[in-house]
Amino acid sequence: MKTKALFLDRDGVINIDYGYVYQIEKFEFTKGVFELLRLFLENGYLLFVVTNQSGIGRGYYTQEQFLDLTDWMLEKFREENIEIVSVLHCHHAPEEQCGCRKPATGMVDEILKNNEIDLENSWLIGDKQSDIDLAINSNIKHTIAIGERKIKNATLSFKTILECKLFLEENKDIIAL
Ligand SMILES: [Mg+2]
Ligand SMILES: [Zn+2]
Repeated sequence: MKTKALFLDRDGVINIDYGYVYQIEKFEFTKGVFELLRLFLENGYLLFVVTNQSGIGRGYYTQEQFLDLTDWMLEKFREENIEIVSVLHCHHAPEEQCGCRKPATGMVDEILKNNEIDLENSWLIGDKQSDIDLAINSNIKHTIAIGERKIKNATLSFKTILECKLFLEENKDIIAL
């Protein structure tokens, strides 16, 4: 049987985007993100993170530093009873023109190879046009745009993760399908 999935961007969605965050000290979870993710878990979604990390390709930090931070993040999630199936990242700089930097579909393709996902009933949450365009390119049906940027073609838009969480708590049927 195919399972619904929630695809999550990291910076600006899970943590506050201070720009090229790779240190634990700078990793600040957004308000309401734990409750929001538990809401999706309660409704039967598998959680995946898909994140562009061009800071690695640009030489601002190493893959190892990114992976250490990821381990720490996953441990914090576990303490909050949140299990993330996997975290995929693109380490390339834009000029490398890889197939995994969002909005290219490489990371989602990889997830779909290993998991039976019901894309028609899946969601993606991001804070950039490239996130929403990834969903469109990958046939992930529903999207949520977070933040102040002008983003086109999202199903729902909220200024903050907290607003998104409050809305979905009041409108659970939207993700209960
Ligand atoms: Mg982002
Ligand atoms: Zn890439």
